[in-house]
Amino acid sequence: MLHAMTKDSTEPKAPLLMIPGPIEVEAPVLAAMGAPPLSHLDPRLVAAFSRALTLLRDVFLAPDGQPLVVAGSGTLAMEMAVANVVERGDRAVVVDTGYFSARMARVLERHGAQVTVVGAELGEVPTLDAIEGAVRGARPKVVTVTHVDTSTGVLAPVREIAAIAGAHGALSLVDGVCSVGGEALDMAAWGVDLALTASQKALGAPPGLAIVMARPRAMEAHRARKTPPASFYADFAEWLPIMKAYEAKTPAYFATPPVNLIMALEASLASIAREGMAARVARHAHVAKAMRAAWTQMGLRSLPRQASSSAHTLSALYYPDGVDASLVARVRDEGVVIAGGLHPEARTKYFRVGHMGNTGDAEIATTVSAIARALGKDPAGALAAARSQA
Ligand SMILES: *Cc1c(COP(=O)(O)O)cnc(C)c1O
Repeated sequence: MLHAMTKDSTEPKAPLLMIPGPIEVEAPVLAAMGAPPLSHLDPRLVAAFSRALTLLRDVFLAPDGQPLVVAGSGTLAMEMAVANVVERGDRAVVVDTGYFSARMARVLERHGAQVTVVGAELGEVPTLDAIEGAVRGARPKVVTVTHVDTSTGVLAPVREIAAIAGAHGALSLVDGVCSVGGEALDMAAWGVDLALTASQKALGAPPGLAIVMARPRAMEAHRARKTPPASFYADFAEWLPIMKAYEAKTPAYFATPPVNLIMALEASLASIAREGMAARVARHAHVAKAMRAAWTQMGLRSLPRQASSSAHTLSALYYPDGVDASLVARVRDEGVVIAGGLHPEARTKYFRVGHMGNTGDAEIATTVSAIARALGKDPAGALAAARSQA
């Protein structure tokens, strides 16, 4: 009952936030955000920052990884990852599954990379043969993939793509902004060199933190650069000593950390650690299954064309015949905030429902009912379909 957290019962109940980020946050996260700011050298902040950095290795399953947490959004995390391993003239292959893959290509180009894009039809993932062919042809320094493209709800086969990159001597870089903390991602076992996310999606904190996990080959690529990264703020060399210092509880200064967000991130990561990543990934899969059963019962068609490449952190659904984007406002009137389309090819034809973080049976029921009512349907059938997956 996350949406029933209003302190004063006379306040109107806040609508339930079910977009693909920002998401509902738990009470301890909210409390951390609302507390008076601490000094960035305060032992309480230092202890929380240290724990957050350590806990991030468990979330990314990267025991040998270096976490970097800085003020910024997911787009800065994308740029930070790229700026530190790519030099002017390097080649990159982008596995394109939608809007955010196109953004990654632009970031790479801005930092001087020659980019080869391997795309597919809307709602599809390029075949592994096509990806391997592109990598063999381009001989890139880095292969990037969007784990979950938030514009399409397409889930990419990161393990297989990282294996292709590794077999051809390229680094693998995963945009995990809509996946880390919700989808299965095992950086070390899958050989993923760099992954990134932001605080406001499946990690369950408010927006404002860019998070990068760099494994040894990525750090080595950074150290082997001939030229410094073109961004001062995003340079690993500036942040590395700071992250190591905070983790060792001996704080150091480069740029002021967003102290409330760090406290909030630690509160959310502590909750994630209590649940355990395996259980959390399984719960996201269960929630996605229940949601999908409800969509099918209502006759809604998914944008991802195959179940195997459908995200567990959000649903992207075509409007049924005779329904347009005004559905989003009608669902809002029913008490749930969902999102419209984002991919330029189909922006007005579909909507998106986020289901990451602390989503459970209550949130599934509230969301499914609101959408059914906004579509003029009796919610009972869709609710029964969702519950049948429990
Ligand atoms: C949200 C998102 C981004 C961008 O993150 P911002 O915090 O909005 O900058 C990048 N990639 C993916 C996959 C996302 O879902």
